Amino acid sequence: MQFTRFINAFKRLETPFYFYDLDILDQTLRTYTRNLRKYGYIAHYAMKANANPRILEIIQRSGLGADCVSGNEVQLALDMGFDPETVVFAGVGKSDKEIRTALQGGIFSFNCESVPEIRIINDLAAQMGKTARISLRLNPNIDAHTNKHITTGRSRDKFGISEWMLDDVLQVFSECGNIKLIGLHFHIGSQVTDMNVFQMLCDKVNYFQRWFEQRDIRLEHINLGGGVAVDYKNPLENLYSPFETYFETINRTLELRKGQKVHFEPGRALVAQCGFLISRVLYVKIGKGKKFAILDAGMNDLIRPALYGARHAVCNFTSASEKTEVYDVVGPVCESADRFGLSVRLPETSRGDMVAICSAGAYGQVMSMRYNQRELAQAYYSPDL
Ligand SMILES: *Cc1c(COP(=O)(O)O)cnc(C)c1O
Repeated sequence: MQFTRFINAFKRLETPFYFYDLDILDQTLRTYTRNLRKYGYIAHYAMKANANPRILEIIQRSGLGADCVSGNEVQLALDMGFDPETVVFAGVGKSDKEIRTALQGGIFSFNCESVPEIRIINDLAAQMGKTARISLRLNPNIDAHTNKHITTGRSRDKFGISEWMLDDVLQVFSECGNIKLIGLHFHIGSQVTDMNVFQMLCDKVNYFQRWFEQRDIRLEHINLGGGVAVDYKNPLENLYSPFETYFETINRTLELRKGQKVHFEPGRALVAQCGFLISRVLYVKIGKGKKFAILDAGMNDLIRPALYGARHAVCNFTSASEKTEVYDVVGPVCESADRFGLSVRLPETSRGDMVAICSAGAYGQVMSMRYNQRELAQAYYSPDL
C-alpha cells in the first residue's frame, strides 16, 4: 500500500472518508480461501465486520457464505445473492421477527445460545410448517486473552451454552419436532493473537465431541467461529493474517468424525487491512507538555479507539518534513474518549496535512454514526480512484 499513488486523487476529496483498496481485499480473500480449501474447510464471512455493499459483493463472489447476527443481516445476505445454504445466524437475542426472516429464507443454520431461544425457534418453525436446523453455540470457558470487550468464550460472558445446561438442551430436542440438531458452534472472541488459544479451543471441542458421542448424537459439522487477529501495529508490513499457521493448528488438533465438516466465520481478518480512514489535520494545538494533532475525523467515524481503547496505526502521508514529533491524535467530537492515539510519533505535522488511520476496514464504517450531527463518511475505492 503506497499512499503516494493516491495523493492527487485524495486531495480533491472532502475529508474524512473511507478508502478501500480492493486489491488488498482480493489478495486477502485469495490467501484465505487457498489455505481454507487445502483442508476442505468452509467459511461464512461475518458480515457485521463490514457490510458495505461493494465489499460484500466481492466476498460473495469469492465463494464464501455469510455469518449474520441480525435479521436484517440475514436479509441483506440473501439480497446480495449469498446462497441460503451458506447463511448462518448467531446472536443471544434473536427476535421473533428475525427468526421468521431466517426461516423464510431457508438458511443453513441457527447458531443458538439458550434453551428458551431453541423452544421459540421450534414454535415459530412449527407455525410456518418448517424445520429449523440448529447448531449449539457452546461456551467452552476459554479466555481468549484479548481485549475484555471482545472476549466472548468465558463462562461469565453472555454468549453460548454452558456444559451444565446440555442435558436440558437435549431434552428440548427430544420434545420438539420442528428443529434438528446439526452441529456445534464456537466463537471465543476477536483479535486473538495467540495460536495456543485456538489449540485450547480445539481441545475443548474434542471433549464436547466425546460428550455427544457418548449420547449417540451425530454432529454433521463443527463451526469454530472467527477471531483471527490482524496486525494493528505494523499493518502495511503485515497485510495478511497468518492463515496458514491458523488452519494448520486447527487441522493438527481437531479430531473429526467421519464425514464431519469444519466451518469458520472470519470477519476482521478478511477486511481490516483493506480499509483506511483518510482525514485532514485541522489544527495543531499546543497543550501542557504535549501537542495535539486535531483531525477532522472523529469517534463517530471510527469508534474502536473510544469503545475498546483500540490503537490504529496513523500515517501522515503528505508532510514533507524530515523531522518527527510526538502528538496526541484526537478528533473534533465533544468527548474526551474521541482520540485515536496518545504520544504518536509522526513527521512534523501541520494544518492541511492528510493522515491515514490504518486497519479501518473492520468494525469501522459499519459502526459509524451521526453523533454531533456529523455527516457519515463516504467511501471511495481503488482501483476506481
Ligand atoms: C463477530 C463474530 C465473528 C467474527 O469475528 P472476527 O473476530 O471479526 O473474525 C464470528 N462469529 C460470530 C458469531 C461473531 O459474533
